[in-house]
Amino acid sequence: MILLDGKIASRAIKEKLLAATEQIKASGKTAPHLAAILVGTNGASETYVASKVKNCEETGFESTLIRLEEQVTESELLHQIVQLNQNPGIDGILVQLPLPKHINESVIIQAIHPDKDVDGFHPISAGKLVQGLPTFIPATPYGILLMLEHFQLSTKGKHAVVIGRSNIVGRPMSILLSSNIPYGNCTVTLCHSHTPNLADICLQADILVAALGKPEFVKASMVKPGAIVIDVGITRVTDATAKNGFRIKGDVAFDEVAPLCEAITPVPGGVGLMTIAGLLKNTLQAYQQHPLKAD
Ligand code: NAD
Repeated sequence: MILLDGKIASRAIKEKLLAATEQIKASGKTAPHLAAILVGTNGASETYVASKVKNCEETGFESTLIRLEEQVTESELLHQIVQLNQNPGIDGILVQLPLPKHINESVIIQAIHPDKDVDGFHPISAGKLVQGLPTFIPATPYGILLMLEHFQLSTKGKHAVVIGRSNIVGRPMSILLSSNIPYGNCTVTLCHSHTPNLADICLQADILVAALGKPEFVKASMVKPGAIVIDVGITRVTDATAKNGFRIKGDVAFDEVAPLCEAITPVPGGVGLMTIAGLLKNTLQAYQQHPLKAD
């Protein structure tokens, strides 16, 4: 069984990004710059954004973190985005999700200029992805492709089953795995909360991507021996014995599933780290596509 260690794969990507940034700076140009907006004080969101900012530093990128209070209005948030859109010094913009209930996420996502949409959530980015045009690939599916590439796991002709159809993970993952691209060319089944006989479908998967947000949902009885299992789930489960009072659980019952697999991602330490690598690669791409910054 190969452990798809996100620390190893993301480190290799970040080393290349750092080398690219150093070259940019050596030529007298400014480094790629990511702006992140964090609304409110959600613990998980705080952790994710802090990690994104830290990873920017590690790769020599500039980063700006804009914190807005939970009660911020939609129009105030839109105003911030417009300013970042117009700022030529900012290459990529991300708004950490989820947003408070009084803000329409779709309106916010659509306000980000597509050229700076490094999360790849804008409908223009999503449309280009469907048509196989160059675009920003949403960071988590992108990170999964980078993981498959790093460990040289072939996907061509395989049956991939994706559980979850969200716009940010499951649906773009299913499109990418079915596309005629390196680490694509699978036959894909996309499952969701209305899929009957889910366990039987999972058992047919050569590649199983679990992205539903239900801790340890995928059991050994649902996994075909020799499958590649990608666990996207991140859920905080209360545990009084843990330092923070919770533990992070994936969507796969790792201990019982791992012995069956050709390869499996751990949680934590798997897809989450690759998501950040995908985001950083998108930020460099945004920088390189800028007409005044490109070579
Ligand atoms: P979501 O809630 O938007 O979507 C969940 C999907 O799972 C839905 O499409 C739903 O139909 C499906 N689903 C729910 N219950 C199901 C069931 N019993 N059977 C089959 N399908 C079911 O979630 P999301 O934003 O796609 O995130 C999914 C998980 O991935 C969460 O745990 C989230 O925290 C995690 N996540 C991790 C990363 C990362 O970097 N590792 C990034 C994004 C999301």
